[in-house]
Amino acid sequence: MNAFSIYKIILDNIISFIFPNHCMLCGILMQSKKIICIECINKLPFKHKDKYIFCKYCGNLLVDDDAKCKCMSNNSYYFDEMKAAFYYDDVMKYIIHQMKFDGRYRICFDIANIISFYYKDYIQEHDIIMSVPLNKIRIRDRGYNQSDIIAQVIAKKFIINFDNKSIKRIKNTKQLSKSKDIVARLDIIKDAFVIDKKYINTLKNKNILLIDDIFTTGTTVNELSKTISKNVNVNKINILAIAKA
Ligand SMILES: [Zn+2]
Ligand SMILES: [Zn+2]
Repeated sequence: MNAFSIYKIILDNIISFIFPNHCMLCGILMQSKKIICIECINKLPFKHKDKYIFCKYCGNLLVDDDAKCKCMSNNSYYFDEMKAAFYYDDVMKYIIHQMKFDGRYRICFDIANIISFYYKDYIQEHDIIMSVPLNKIRIRDRGYNQSDIIAQVIAKKFIINFDNKSIKRIKNTKQLSKSKDIVARLDIIKDAFVIDKKYINTLKNKNILLIDDIFTTGTTVNELSKTISKNVNVNKINILAIAKA
């Protein structure tokens, strides 16, 4: 053990003595640097634990495999499939809110690790991982894009290319509310993204995974998928959301 690692261990011990690490949900004192304890992780509202059949586009419950979801009659989808890891209950609402608005970006690492564990096979079907770009103003206010951090952690873990250069958000849209009707939402998000032509070749024939935080109506990820698929011939675009609202 070199001098540097001894100092680092001593420093880590002093820091954890002064600032003990507590689970953000139950408050229990933790030995690791994790944000959520294992008991609380086990109680999170995982969607995969229910053996229900969900629509592959909007995530709503279907009665059986052959049932056609009513979302299909109102929408054209430009992505192939959407999976969401959690239901958007009060606990997930709290976690995502803390992650987004209270600067607790370290929660993103815990969430990325949990998602990586349960969606390992799905993630590994892809060649490129992206997140939904935020507009510059929101990044400036928050300092980071939470979906971007999660996407990067997942990409690194599975040694998949992380891409945050090919798509730019050019429109400063407000948060799209579920209460707005579909025409209003489509109008707000229309042409919000542009593709940087110099990266088109890197996307050609690839399987792309888009990481999103809360999948509500899918209008934003669909517009992003549309921008990609109108400009370049990709093999597939899938979505992995943290929670389905
Ligand atoms: Zn806990
Ligand atoms: Zn549907």
